[in-house]
Parts: sequence; C-alpha cells; structure tokens
Amino acid sequence: MWISHITVTELLCNRFLGVKDIPSLSLLGFGSIFPDWMEYIGRFRILSHRGISHNISFWLVTYLVANLLLKAYYPYLKWFLIGVFMHLAEDAMTKRGIPIFFGYSKRFALKLFITGGKGETIFVLIVIMLCLVA
Ligand SMILES: [Zn+2]
Repeated sequence: MWISHITVTELLCNRFLGVKDIPSLSLLGFGSIFPDWMEYIGRFRILSHRGISHNISFWLVTYLVANLLLKAYYPYLKWFLIGVFMHLAEDAMTKRGIPIFFGYSKRFALKLFITGGKGETIFVLIVIMLCLVA
C-alpha cells in the first residue's frame, strides 16, 4: 500500500540517513510510490504489476544513467532513486516479491507478509517503533 511505502521510507531515511529538508523528503516520498504509479496512465494500466517497474536491473541501469548523464541534477535524483529502491526493498518482503533480472522469471521474495495484510501493518508499526527508540 502506498501509505506504507511512504511511511516506512520517510521514517527510515529521516531517522537513519538524516534526511530532514522538505524537498528531499518530498522526492523520497514520490520515489517510494513511483514503481506502482508508473504502471498507469490515468486510470489505465500500461505495465503489468511488479513487472519492469519493479525490476532491480531496470532501476540499477536507470541509476547508472542518471548518475552519468544527469550529474547536475543528481543531488535531487538521489533521493528519488533511494525512494524507489526503498519501495523495491519493501515489495521484496512480500509473498509476491519482485523481479531481479530482465528476461528472468524468478522473483526475489522474502515472503514476510502479503501486501495490505495484517503482517504489513505489523511491519509498519515495528518500523515506527524502531525509529522512535533508535
Ligand atoms: Zn510496488
């Protein structure tokens, strides 16, 4: 769920990476939901759920290209891409998991919980408590 992605990403990056300014937190939040968001144009699905939009290889290539070609914008893109990778890490914890390589059907899944289930809520609560006490 998008609220889980935003909450977990913002709290962990604020607490452990020291991200405190509004532009960086906004980019983190946008990046944390972007892989799901890019699957649609308006109300129409254009990409399969957790296909290329959640492929680690695709985002690593995007990271490298952004780092090489858009160096001037990298301080801004960095937080967006960290948000994206946080999204992928959180989705990798679910039963369905995420694809790893192009053209390779095996998915990486820790199978800790189901998206939108009680396990996800418990995970978010644990992250909140961790950020409060750490
Ligand atoms: Zn997702």
